[in-house]
Amino acid sequence: MTDNTPRYLSLDRHLRAAFGEKVQKIPLDAGSTCPNRDGTLSFGGCTFCNAEGSGPGVGLGSLRDQWNRWRTRYAAMPRMKSTKLFLGYIQSFTNTYGPASRLAAMLRELSNLPGLVGACIGTRPDCLDKEKMSIMADCPWPEFWLEIGVQSFNDATLCRINRGHTAKDAENALLLAAHFGVKTCVHLMAGLPGESNEDFLNSVRRLASLPVSGVKLHNLYIPKGCAMEKDWLHGSLPLLEQEEYAVLAAKALTILPPSVVIHRLCADPAPGELAAPYWASQKRQTLDLINAALHYNNWTQGCKKTEKTGKAEKAVRGE
Ligand code: SF4
Repeated sequence: MTDNTPRYLSLDRHLRAAFGEKVQKIPLDAGSTCPNRDGTLSFGGCTFCNAEGSGPGVGLGSLRDQWNRWRTRYAAMPRMKSTKLFLGYIQSFTNTYGPASRLAAMLRELSNLPGLVGACIGTRPDCLDKEKMSIMADCPWPEFWLEIGVQSFNDATLCRINRGHTAKDAENALLLAAHFGVKTCVHLMAGLPGESNEDFLNSVRRLASLPVSGVKLHNLYIPKGCAMEKDWLHGSLPLLEQEEYAVLAAKALTILPPSVVIHRLCADPAPGELAAPYWASQKRQTLDLINAALHYNNWTQGCKKTEKTGKAEKAVRGE
């Protein structure tokens, strides 16, 4: 394997193989809310979530207005202006919450957007049922992803971060989606309070045993205004170091089956929202460190190899 051979199946590579060209995501805000914020489960939300609902807060207007604004912006960028194919990404809050008719209307609105070849819809595991799955299974696009925030398969952790659902809920959602043939992308988070690195890898192992088609791995970061910010300010919430996370993410890749599409390998805070750690804003550097850990250990996605003698942590630091 040469040094620039891809060591994992990125979403970009998956989409280029499917469409023969670059496909760009466009973030959209459908004006959704969340049962963990509107009082149905809680008012406070998950302890790492801020007022933007763990999304980029991409702006106002109809989905079409937002779409057109992004298309105009991309058309003015030299490296993007030849891109013709797009995925609509509805990320913030819980987009399958509420009646199935709301979801159906959202998907109808998406289907009329020019250049759209697929969609990613973000949600949580306990806001899905057969009717909603059936609506999503009928989507006409070649690419449809149901993105499910799970974060951990450890119930004690889920309780501690006030997720308001269990690991079993996540498992049931994945099984239901698989039954309907809906592709799922699960979000997992490393560095959650009370969790060791091994706890995180155990969540990855549990996920790898379930029917899942895609994964997003995130390092825990503290957005300004979230409940965890107080613990961090009081010094009672240790955060992962950048090199430590890079090795952990690389190890997670070795556990995931090679066919699972890696949608993201580190968190990507919205501009201005990051309180800590400072390195969470250095996405390019974190990705380089993850790749360095993969290369140093000769790890590839799904290889399940053990760490080479010596410390990968030292290798990615160049020691
Ligand atoms: S489920 Fe998502 S939107 Fe709702 S509180 Fe948690 S992170 Fe925020």
